[in-house]
Amino acid sequence: PFDPTGPAPRIAVLGTGYLGATHAVAMAQLGMEVVGVDTDPHKVEMLTAGKVPFYEPGLPELLSEQMATGRLRFTTDVAEAVGWADVHFVCVGTPQSKTSHAADLRYVEAVTTAITENLTHDALIVGKSTVPVGTAARLRTLVAREAPAGVRAELVWNPEFLREGKAVADTLHPDRIVLGGTSSDAEALLRRVYAGPIAEGSPVVVCDLPTAELVKVSANAFLATKISFINAISGVCEAAGADVTVLADALGHDVRIGRQFLDAGLGFGGGCLPKDIRALMYRANELGAGRAAALLQQVDEINMGQRQSVIDLAVQACGGSVLNRRIGVLGAAFKPHTDDVRDSPALNVAAALHLRGAQVTVYDPEAGDTARAMFPTLGYATSVDEAVEGTDVILVLTEWDEFIQADPAHLALLTHQPAVIDARGRLDAARWRSAGWTFTGLGRAALA
Ligand code: NAD
Repeated sequence: PFDPTGPAPRIAVLGTGYLGATHAVAMAQLGMEVVGVDTDPHKVEMLTAGKVPFYEPGLPELLSEQMATGRLRFTTDVAEAVGWADVHFVCVGTPQSKTSHAADLRYVEAVTTAITENLTHDALIVGKSTVPVGTAARLRTLVAREAPAGVRAELVWNPEFLREGKAVADTLHPDRIVLGGTSSDAEALLRRVYAGPIAEGSPVVVCDLPTAELVKVSANAFLATKISFINAISGVCEAAGADVTVLADALGHDVRIGRQFLDAGLGFGGGCLPKDIRALMYRANELGAGRAAALLQQVDEINMGQRQSVIDLAVQACGGSVLNRRIGVLGAAFKPHTDDVRDSPALNVAAALHLRGAQVTVYDPEAGDTARAMFPTLGYATSVDEAVEGTDVILVLTEWDEFIQADPAHLALLTHQPAVIDARGRLDAARWRSAGWTFTGLGRAALA
């Protein structure tokens, strides 16, 4: 089989999106020879030219650095890459299915088949994509069935926990490394691949396949639940005249609770949390674990309800109808420090107001292009000033520093009517009010 004590393994990373591109660059940074493979020739062309096809802080610099070492390359030729490498990381997408809450596993299945068919020597296939529990065991059967005669192929799961916006640091210094379903050889080989982070103290959790798959989705489900919890409490705060931001700070002092993920507001979005909790909901139901499904259903409903609340507040701020009213939307990305607009609450709210007849102008420091590609009919500005010009109300929907630090006195001069809805709870309400703004925050009845 593969020899964990032999020369450093050659790495193939299949799928070079947010996860795979970062992983490929990080593997090269850790000193291994790496090939990144994608079916999208445009992505491969960009990466080969040293350009990252999306916004991720620190990644362009590291990509250029690693391309210059000669250890890192990109290709669309899966047969060549698989024939060359020893360890194959599966990093393709697992989006929500078009017809249900289930995950669409066609890319994971296709890439596993492509790897297996093209194997020329013993190899380790390492799943990193987020998958419903039970997927890895099925793929293992596929690999055993399709592997060429005389080739030993082992499939294990090593879920990824990186956060967009902090992807480089999270990949090089992960909070934990989960190794699911490894033989002792495979574990030794992966401990070698991750020797750098392990030496720096990243804990390794060795477990079975289903546990590894579930650790990932449970982590996301917990974070989503924390956000929906504070948003539910935020509704109570509004009704009772309390301030959820002060409450969250006070709660956060309890180390058992912690302050992170307790920002009440527009809720979560992006390419991971929403589809991951829905896929877990679906899978939990399939497995007869109805309680987990019911909990996650509430988490999802609370989250989507926040988007509706912000739409309602905007309608209210415009006197009952947004028809032909000018609305400035600050933020399109699902969170700051990324250009990712997949299932973005900000863009979702902007699009809903546009559909109701508002003249919506969106500005985001990094996500203007990705937003325009998804919703070409919205208006787009290239600065905060341009988005705010002549508006009846502005909505702060993504908590970029640029918005938090904006000068309300200056912006008030540009509007038709200085009204702001702070859907992320991050603006200094007193400062905006003293600059003449009508200020509305979520869960902050004291401000109303
Ligand atoms: P993405 O859509 O950005 O990237 C997926 C890439 O796979 C695309 O470039 C696509 O062209 C490529 N691809 C599809 N089929 C292929 C094939 N047969 N061969 C080679 N390439 C192929 O998705 P992403 O955000 O990078 O997510 C990938 C996986 O990682 C998902 O399961 C996701 O849930 C998980 N994940 C993502 C993050 C994140 O922050 N984005 C974090 C942790 C885990």
